[in-house]
Amino acid sequence: MSPTAGSGRPTLLGVPYDASSSFLRGTALAPSHIRSALRAASSNLSTEDGRALDTLGWDDAGDLELPPGTEARSCIEAGVARLLATGGRPLVLGGDHSVTYPVVRAVARAAAPFTILHFDAHADLYDALDGDRYSHACPFARIMEEGLAARLVQVGVRTLTAHQREQAHRFGVEMLDMQAFAAGVRPALPGPVYVSLDLDVLDPAFAPGVSHWEPGGLSTRELLTMVQAIEGPIVGADLVEYNPLRDPTGLTAMVAAKLLKEMLAAMTRE
Ligand code: MN
Ligand code: MN
Repeated sequence: MSPTAGSGRPTLLGVPYDASSSFLRGTALAPSHIRSALRAASSNLSTEDGRALDTLGWDDAGDLELPPGTEARSCIEAGVARLLATGGRPLVLGGDHSVTYPVVRAVARAAAPFTILHFDAHADLYDALDGDRYSHACPFARIMEEGLAARLVQVGVRTLTAHQREQAHRFGVEMLDMQAFAAGVRPALPGPVYVSLDLDVLDPAFAPGVSHWEPGGLSTRELLTMVQAIEGPIVGADLVEYNPLRDPTGLTAMVAAKLLKEMLAAMTRE
């Protein structure tokens, strides 16, 4: 049990892994593109609450070096555990969403019980997809089976299958789907939070640079407002599923960088 968990120094950690994607590869290229967009000459490093990002006290640990296949999972968990042990608090740049399972495993060992706030068009609760229990469609099934989170609150889901509805019921998932969001429902999140942000929660009109286009999602503004409303503390976070191969203009990289900026703002506000 690390005394620094939930209060450690926010630290970016790139996880260039996309071997558990079910449809398209490309998200392994995301970390460097998001970092470049963060420093883009067309914008600046001011957060929306008026602070200068380069004065806020965070680090960048670079990218993990990973083997090409699924054996990367244990390296991801070990990499995050190392970061936590040295006083860091992970803000992971994926990669596909499968990385969240090993990341949360490491955080759960170091932090007091926390709620996972999961933004996504998809519930990612499949027991297995295409025979793979560690697919990017499955991380929250593994997380809930192992009891790694006190609560799982999902926001923005709009693709629920009968199987995943059963899984959500089985695990006691609190699902605030897109229809509920559109009706004005917002999550109540007292206490420590881990934020898992799949960029496809956004409407593809705002963020087309993702592997799975799912119309009818959040606006960038709605998502930023929710990130800014997290009271925290935030024990860790990930930003996943940005796919540079579907982003020839670089616009979605700017959206990812904006979200990263406001996540860093939220993690340094506490
Ligand atoms: Mn996902
Ligand atoms: Mn998704």
